[in-house]
Amino acid sequence: MKYPETKSPVFTLTAGPVDAYPEVLRALGKTVLYDYDPAFQAFFENVTLKAQKALACDLPPLILQGEPVLALEGAAASLIGKEDVVLNLASGVYGKGFGYWAKRYAKRVEEIEVAYDTAIDPDQVRSFLKENPEVSVVCVCHHDTPSGTINDIDAIGAVAAESGALLLVDAVSSWAGMPTGPTSSQAAVYVTGPNKCLGCPPSLSLVAVSAQGWAKIEGNPDAPFASMLSFTDWKNAWKKTEPFPFTPSVAEINGLDAALDRYLEEGPEAVWERHALTARVCREGIKAMGVDLWPASEDIASPTATAVRMPDGIDAGPVLKEARARYGVSMSAGRAETLGKLIRIGHMGPTAQPAYALLAVSALGGALKASGATVDVAAGLAAAQAAWDAAIDD
Ligand SMILES: *Cc1c(COP(=O)(O)O)cnc(C)c1O
Repeated sequence: MKYPETKSPVFTLTAGPVDAYPEVLRALGKTVLYDYDPAFQAFFENVTLKAQKALACDLPPLILQGEPVLALEGAAASLIGKEDVVLNLASGVYGKGFGYWAKRYAKRVEEIEVAYDTAIDPDQVRSFLKENPEVSVVCVCHHDTPSGTINDIDAIGAVAAESGALLLVDAVSSWAGMPTGPTSSQAAVYVTGPNKCLGCPPSLSLVAVSAQGWAKIEGNPDAPFASMLSFTDWKNAWKKTEPFPFTPSVAEINGLDAALDRYLEEGPEAVWERHALTARVCREGIKAMGVDLWPASEDIASPTATAVRMPDGIDAGPVLKEARARYGVSMSAGRAETLGKLIRIGHMGPTAQPAYALLAVSALGGALKASGATVDVAAGLAAAQAAWDAAIDD
């Protein structure tokens, strides 16, 4: 028996979009209130303050009405002005991609680019900023998802602060899945979204802007207003007494509220631990199967997605098809530079459960074997189970 492509897979273990929590799906089905109904205005304020608590930021965050690419483009347009010299840090497809937006608005963009299976070295950033004190904005992607690698944004944030540059962070696929936030990274603008580790469908962005970030944005004469990209339009819209610049995504705000409740009730530390354990179980299984991880060193491997390097001569595309057809398991391909070279297993939100890591090792191992690779699936499963048991008995 095989699973046909025309029917939904049985398990979605992707690195985004991710499967949503049942509580979130139920909340999406609530009554759609009129946005100017006082009950909705009070609710929107309440959800924003909950998001502030979850993000642990000083000011109420923005909830923008589109998935996080909207917020990333809006961040570039709002924070970066004609006088700015930007240092863009690229260790993967998203980091590299941000540089193209930065170029649209900046006076000049410099870039440090490293191999997409490695991470940015904060010392290299420090040296660069010493030699180029005119840099006013530093941009970095925290978890470059198509590589499954993590940059040390807290260290990079400290280096940027030393030189007086503002930090802009893409933390879309790491926030709420590991210890990270706008405060520890000292970010002027910290972009994330509920559609990865918070377990919502793709639809909204969350953005924490610091007081310094707002000063820069409000002093930028070219920052967008009366625009889908605008940050300033939404700055005060969280207050129940203030108007919305346009209609918020009412149903999605209901979903976000349920996801935030879930996150805060389970407790951020417990959620992060669940993600870290799932990733550890998965990595142990992959390695013991005789397959390499994509990250050049395991200490930069993300706790929210495991990128698996394809053995020599094996293209990821047919392996993904095989995993889905044989086992009903959907996993993510690479993107751009990493397409074909790796497969990504997401550990985000509801799929950050060690049992799913065992399933992923089984499905990926079986599909690799069916594609002609030499893998020891049984050894992989035994190692994954042992890593899980070790954590239980600890
Ligand atoms: C998912 C994600 C985004 C949102 O962008 P899409 O490509 O539309 O999914 C942005 N940045 C990172 C790092 C992401 O993982």
